[in-house]
Amino acid sequence: MIYNYHTHTHRCGHASGAEEEYIEAAIKNGIKYMGFSDHMPLKFADGSESGYRVPTAEGKIYCEQIKALSKKYKGKIDIKVGFEMEYYPELFDEMLKKAIEYGAEYLILGQHFIMPENLAAKDTFRATNSVDELKKYTKAVLSAIEKNIFTYVAHPDVFNYVGDVGIYQKEMRKICVASRENNVPLELNFLGIRQHRVYPNDAFWQIAGEEKSPVTFGFDAHEVSSAFDGESLLKAKQIVEKYNLNYIGIPKLRLIK
Ligand SMILES: [Zn+2]
Ligand SMILES: [Zn+2]
Repeated sequence: MIYNYHTHTHRCGHASGAEEEYIEAAIKNGIKYMGFSDHMPLKFADGSESGYRVPTAEGKIYCEQIKALSKKYKGKIDIKVGFEMEYYPELFDEMLKKAIEYGAEYLILGQHFIMPENLAAKDTFRATNSVDELKKYTKAVLSAIEKNIFTYVAHPDVFNYVGDVGIYQKEMRKICVASRENNVPLELNFLGIRQHRVYPNDAFWQIAGEEKSPVTFGFDAHEVSSAFDGESLLKAKQIVEKYNLNYIGIPKLRLIK
């Protein structure tokens, strides 16, 4: 594994460690292509800000700092800067514009909520049997894939649906088909493996294997020790094998500027 485009920083408020420490740890473990994709800043209509993203006031400095480090480490490691961003239809154009203004080079989709989180009753991690919410999640991910902006879909299996299996399969198959048809890879998320989260979800990856969706890996590092995660790598490889996944390796970056 010589790449990882899913790295956070202290700026989002729930990750730790200095940027340069992540880079040093990545280099030490043989990473050649690295991307920072911290949580996209977002100011809500009421003027308040989410507590789990890079503050809007730091969006630009975040990008500038990573770009300076990218220059500093040139020749040792290729570093890009971007954001992990939700797809909120009514906010998408504005968020994309802001991301480019801040200086981001790429985006990955991370649909942690199905609507702006100041309005959302719950995040997508929490168990639900609501078909309506499952369908809203699917719709958001499909719309995002079809935009041809996102480099890949982070933890596409984050939605914690505990209702009817047939309904779940039908909805997730739509995401897997769209991923294949639009060539937007699905990320096997190592944070989920490390922390024994509800994802990776076997039911999801079974379908991804059947549909031959392109699959890539992401460490989703929130601390320096996860800038390389060899233990989860072994488990991820087992999942690839078990479901005969179409593992593509390093994703092709969709540069947004
Ligand atoms: Zn995070
Ligand atoms: Zn995420």
